[in-house]
Amino acid sequence: MLQETAAGLFCPDGDFYIDPWQPVPRAVITHGHGDHARFGSAGYLCASPCAPLLARRFGSSAVIESIPYGEAIALGRTRVSFHPAGHVLGSAQVRVEGAAGVWVVSGDYKREADPTCEPFEAVPCDTFVTESTFGLPIYRWDPTARVLDEVMQWWNGNKANGLTSVLFCYTLGKAQRLLAELGRLTDQPAYVHGMMLPMIEVYRMAGVPMLETRPLIERPRGTSFAGELVLAPLSARGTPWMRRLGDLSDAFASGLMRVRGVRRQRAFDRGFVLSDHADWPALVTTIAETGAARVLATHGHAEPFARFLKSHGLESGVIRTAWEGEAGSEDAQ
Ligand SMILES: [Zn+2]
Ligand SMILES: [Zn+2]
Repeated sequence: MLQETAAGLFCPDGDFYIDPWQPVPRAVITHGHGDHARFGSAGYLCASPCAPLLARRFGSSAVIESIPYGEAIALGRTRVSFHPAGHVLGSAQVRVEGAAGVWVVSGDYKREADPTCEPFEAVPCDTFVTESTFGLPIYRWDPTARVLDEVMQWWNGNKANGLTSVLFCYTLGKAQRLLAELGRLTDQPAYVHGMMLPMIEVYRMAGVPMLETRPLIERPRGTSFAGELVLAPLSARGTPWMRRLGDLSDAFASGLMRVRGVRRQRAFDRGFVLSDHADWPALVTTIAETGAARVLATHGHAEPFARFLKSHGLESGVIRTAWEGEAGSEDAQ
């Protein structure tokens, strides 16, 4: 039903690509992260809550169609529908039904509750294409509430010591999830780097409740940020922009912070293990819930994960992506 091509995963019966990395006539998009939603295709199809993110990313010239979660559309000789993936706002698994049975392409997904998006829905299928970004048994996430308690303690501790708390995170998904979770714990506003503003605004327009945010740029030069929380993209780290923040403690919120070597190598004062991807137990549980007899792994640790599945009696394989290297993309959280 789906074939690997130079442009990405192609469905000949439906004449569309899923998350293609080259321009194609019709791109079916799982979610708005840069390694899945690439500019230049003639037409895009996505789940309704994903459309504003794509429009913001691609500009007004892009042709973007969307359908609500769970609603099917006929494409060629297939029927296609989107089902929540729980990864970021609008993220979807793509279900394709045709002569070769039912395939589900997960895109990126997680199973923890996330106040910024619809919860993951297990979709029964014959073939499941699963992400495996964190497909090794070392990856197990702590409950979100515990991680957020750590963030609050770090922020309060820094405040007591007159330091600015600088929390690096991805601009689409992680930043809004942190702001939504923090909004449940405090009413102190957070300052945000200018690069974060467009996507935060899209989430606000979608009605996601989040902590009040203030653009850092609007503060006059020379104002102190001691005691404040500042969210910033990793690309701002080490740039002159940081100078205005004064004495600070920096932290990174990512699933990668589970790995001691990465923590040490990146030398953040703190690492918060908070991921928008499924951890090992969630991957294994999800695959069982789909009932799929064949599972194809993609992203991150696809090969060891596929071997693990094979050893447990499933037909399995690997789907290559153009975006390998777990820390390489904006999205390897
Ligand atoms: Zn993603
Ligand atoms: Zn991804």
